[in-house]
Amino acid sequence: MKVVVQKFGGTSVADLQCMQQVQAKVQRKLDQGYRVIVVLSAMAGETDRLLKMAREWSDTPAPSELDVLLTTGEQISVALFSMLLQNSGIKARSMLGFQIPIHTDPSYGQARILDINAEQLHELLERYNVLVVAGFQGCDCNNHLTTLGRGGSDTSAVALAGALNAEVCEIYTDVAGVYTTDPNICAQARKLPRIAYDEMLEMSSMGAKVLQIRSVEFAKKYNVPVHVRSTFSDEPGTLLVQEDEDMEAVLVSGIAYDKDQARITLVDVFDEPGIAASVFEPLASANIIVDMIVQNPSREGRTDITFTVPRGDLDRTMQVIDRLKENLGARAILPDTKVCKVSIIGVGMRNHSGVAAIAFKALQSEDINIMIISTSEIKISCLIQEKYTELAVRTLHEAFGLDQEPAAAES
Ligand code: ASP
Ligand code: MG
Repeated sequence: MKVVVQKFGGTSVADLQCMQQVQAKVQRKLDQGYRVIVVLSAMAGETDRLLKMAREWSDTPAPSELDVLLTTGEQISVALFSMLLQNSGIKARSMLGFQIPIHTDPSYGQARILDINAEQLHELLERYNVLVVAGFQGCDCNNHLTTLGRGGSDTSAVALAGALNAEVCEIYTDVAGVYTTDPNICAQARKLPRIAYDEMLEMSSMGAKVLQIRSVEFAKKYNVPVHVRSTFSDEPGTLLVQEDEDMEAVLVSGIAYDKDQARITLVDVFDEPGIAASVFEPLASANIIVDMIVQNPSREGRTDITFTVPRGDLDRTMQVIDRLKENLGARAILPDTKVCKVSIIGVGMRNHSGVAAIAFKALQSEDINIMIISTSEIKISCLIQEKYTELAVRTLHEAFGLDQEPAAAES
């Protein structure tokens, strides 16, 4: 039995008319002889509407009840869509997470999938041509409903595709695929035909909000081919796959940026063992995620420590640091919210040198100062002043030949 998973996001099932477009996509796969697992999100805006109601009583509604509430969003879309298919004579039925079951851990609001009963799904696929599965939800070992975090339907879809050994997991959304950079700020951005899982992980963690990060981790772990494409056209989108030699030949695949950054510099703290630990342990306990860190001795016995945190956590970070100030010997604490992290991403970096030099030179050509540099195997990130974000992205995009189709760039 050939199985394919098709996931449709909230904007794809926003109203009954949109659902008819979705039906056409499903029908096409049926015509090609596939059995189809359709994974749906809640109708656009529904999850937010439910969240807003929940917060009418209290800012901190009980997480387990919140999950009972939020799962209703997807329940509505799968029921309506199944009815639509049935009315057209298609053998279809809806499935909620707990009916499969999709087992998760008990962390309400951000549960992780532990296992999926694929056997029952296979049996059901003998009887039904389409199973319409509610995304974003599962149940824990006590049969309590759980949700997988915002955007979690992507992860439901990829996990189902992995469990059922589906040929592909198609993620239909309101964008045409994954781009070399944000088309809103760079008109030359191009849709990538393929991208490696690792590159996509870096792109999504940088705020390229196409897929929930966990779904990409899942796809990588279980080697699920994921096709990100538009509900509103028939054009092929972007295929997420294991990296191969062709990809390594390309130096850089994309430029990402993240404005959700704040920089803090601790000036002239003691340069002695334990100082860094005394800063970052309390931040970790406060659940503040520190991203870039640099330390550089400034003068004898003293050092500056600079790091970045999500902008929304700056106030809490300052409170923690204020308490430590004396023990650290800090002469000053300098916060800065007007920063942006621009990153160059590509698996080709693993075996090419000189990528950093090209990037730095390009930024210099526009007089853009780099405050912090951090690197990983497939990424170089530069923290710059926020006002230069667009210029930096466009400049880097051009410097790495991303403005042109690869064939043209090579010649
Ligand atoms: N409905 C959920 C959300 O809005 C899950 C999803 O759409 O993937 O985050
Ligand atoms: Mg989404």
